[in-house]
Amino acid sequence: MTCDPGVIGIFSTLDIAVLKPTAHGVFTVAAPPPHWFLPLVADPIGDDSLVSAFPFLDSFLPNARDFWARVEAGSLRSGTWVQRDSPDSESAFEATALRALSENYLLIAMLGEEFQQRRSALQSARSRGLEKEALERRNREMERITGMTSDFLATMSHELRTPLNAILGFSALLTQGKGGALPERQQHFAGQVHQAASHLLALINDLLDLSGMEAGRMRLHPEAFTLGDELQETFSTLAPLALQRKVALRSDAGCLPLPIYADRIRFRQILHNLLSNSLKFTPEGGTVSVSAHLEGPWIEIVISDTGIGIPEAEQSLIFEKFYQVPRSKGDPLEGTGLGLPIAKGLVEQHGGKMSLRSRLGAGSSFTFTLPSGIFNRGEL
Ligand code: ADP
Repeated sequence: MTCDPGVIGIFSTLDIAVLKPTAHGVFTVAAPPPHWFLPLVADPIGDDSLVSAFPFLDSFLPNARDFWARVEAGSLRSGTWVQRDSPDSESAFEATALRALSENYLLIAMLGEEFQQRRSALQSARSRGLEKEALERRNREMERITGMTSDFLATMSHELRTPLNAILGFSALLTQGKGGALPERQQHFAGQVHQAASHLLALINDLLDLSGMEAGRMRLHPEAFTLGDELQETFSTLAPLALQRKVALRSDAGCLPLPIYADRIRFRQILHNLLSNSLKFTPEGGTVSVSAHLEGPWIEIVISDTGIGIPEAEQSLIFEKFYQVPRSKGDPLEGTGLGLPIAKGLVEQHGGKMSLRSRLGAGSSFTFTLPSGIFNRGEL
């Protein structure tokens, strides 16, 4: 008795052809056969050629014989294999074989489309994996560069501050005539040196703060205080600027003892950065006001002005480092573009959030939250 299958079913996932021999060895087609199988069916295949399916399977499906060879007598077996047709093309096959004493069946499914899909899904998963890996590598590199830049800035800032303090101190002495009376013109020059050095020191301090925040090196020293006290302090520092700009500085939160639990120095810095911006970008006769209220465990503080406003397209950009809204000539542009990123970064270091509402020509409102410390005073 032959061990080879006498009945062959070959079907693809799209065209199914299950071919069964009748008692006289004539094929009946149970379903439309795949086009590549038709010539075989159309040809009058005699009983002899049915004795073994392999002569023709061998020519294009060499693995089928191996598969069949591993089917034990009296058992049913399923399996799949991939056949490389050419260097850049593969086909997958799924086979089920029944080897009985009287009848042998071998059903082979060509997993054409499904296989292609599976393969391209695998390939795209693989390329997604590669992309993710490349992205992670790039992120690690960026972190390393940011860390190096922060270290460099921290070292440089420290080294620059020492001589700068000497310039500041001595130019102040010269301006005040403490090193001997100076002619008016020279006194004026010394004043300018002092002013430029102060500006440079502020810039260096800002850079140091930003690099510290980015490197995760900033330490906060939270304490409990009231908004009113700090507001009074900041208002008196900014009063000369408000006077010079002829802008009213108001607050309805000043006399309320609203509690804050934050780093006091950093809080002053946030207030100062936002309020000085509002004073700077509000034309004569305008108003800058501060309001606040408690919102659960947070205090929400709003700084509003009746100033020039910020175009919608620029509203997210102004929180980027060094970004300044381009203005027409003659508008005030002194500054560094670091005040807002620092203020927002400081708020976030406290676990709070900062947002902006603004309309061009109609003013801006910066809202931020900080812990009130009412419910808990966790570590910041
Ligand atoms: P700087 O004030 O030093 O330029 P900031 O980071 O504080 O840097 O602000 C970035 C930019 O955002 C400013 O240059 C200005 O164009 C815009 N801006 C900030 N605050 C206001 C405001 N209250 N009104 C209008 N524009 C503002």
